[in-house]
Amino acid sequence: MNKHVVALIPLDAYDQPRVDEAVRQGLALLGGVEQFVRPEEKVLLKPNLLARALPQKAITTHPAVFSAVCRALREAGCRHLSYGDSPGSPTTTPDKAADTAGIAEAAERYQVEKADFASGSVVPFPGGHTARSFYLCNGVQEADALINICKMKTHALERITGAVKNLYGCVTGVNKATGHAAFPNSEVFADMLVDLNRCIAPRLHIMDGVIAMEGNGPTSGTPTPMNVLLFSADPVALDAIFAHLIHLDPAEVPTCTYGQLRGLGVMDAERIAVRTPEGELTVAQAREKYGRKDFDVYRGTLQKGLLFKVMPLLPFLQHRPKVDLKKCVACGVCQEACPVEEKAVRSGNGKKAKYDYSKCIRCYCCQEMCPVKAIEVYRHPLTKLLSGK
Ligand code: SF4
Ligand code: SF4
Repeated sequence: MNKHVVALIPLDAYDQPRVDEAVRQGLALLGGVEQFVRPEEKVLLKPNLLARALPQKAITTHPAVFSAVCRALREAGCRHLSYGDSPGSPTTTPDKAADTAGIAEAAERYQVEKADFASGSVVPFPGGHTARSFYLCNGVQEADALINICKMKTHALERITGAVKNLYGCVTGVNKATGHAAFPNSEVFADMLVDLNRCIAPRLHIMDGVIAMEGNGPTSGTPTPMNVLLFSADPVALDAIFAHLIHLDPAEVPTCTYGQLRGLGVMDAERIAVRTPEGELTVAQAREKYGRKDFDVYRGTLQKGLLFKVMPLLPFLQHRPKVDLKKCVACGVCQEACPVEEKAVRSGNGKKAKYDYSKCIRCYCCQEMCPVKAIEVYRHPLTKLLSGK
């Protein structure tokens, strides 16, 4: 059986020379960066720039990892490099996010051009299962090849965000919110993300998991060391290894299940080989050596099965965003981020956040965008009891 390869490099700090060496090692374990891009191609680097945040918040790809990838590509003779991402928040521009995250400075050092992530157009994708077109940033459309440099984090809707989810930043600004309304639950949203990955077809995925984010991710969680960099041509295998390292079954991660179902990649442990500087490991060996059982991620199993189907009929049991009014500063960002036309949350102009759950589609854009971590996902104690978690 041909196994899908994920390279795992242990790394416990963002010390630039060590990160450079780790990225070199990771790429070498996959056969070298030349396997993925040619010197004459226009290569787009896609870090995670979800919000305007300092690197130590672990919301965005660390600039040391981004720098190391730029360096490796320059050493391989790549002449046309660009970078970009479209942040989630309607109040943040790509430039502001890149400046604060330290990515803009790193890009300047390696003369990596800023790609256009502020505007875009519709790109048809007739082969999509769930989405037949995407509103893609011009910078994505102008590139020959994309390298995805994602961040290892938890996610309220999809449990984790890694390689597959990071591509959503290729969709232009406000169209991301429209997508949440059009694909309004974790399953259908994951299927759309898989279509997006098949449409863009990145050549390579690199995950920054040196300092990951646990808990209330992807913006309001807690930075925590996972001490790894992961590399793969298969985004599903990469995310599956992330799941295994945190002792979460990839079958509970919709982007993994739909990714495998649609042929984007594989999540089954027996079909993945983990290459490390000390040799090849099985997934179980990698989890044992580099994993963390105590990583804070939602582990309930109620997303599927009978109870999941009847939950819409039992509103009191449904997970929902919940605001801590003591923390809320009435900024209005959650209202702006809410993709529901009639707005399921109202705030701003001196008014703290107030929900109308009858309109809420549980996309958690509000939780993702709140700048002061005032919103969490509430899970009814009964659902926790029934899921045994
Ligand atoms: S909940 Fe957060 S985003 Fe919403 S108004 Fe309050 S502080 Fe702003
Ligand atoms: S209130 Fe929050 S979770 Fe509900 S639809 Fe609006 S953004 Fe999504």
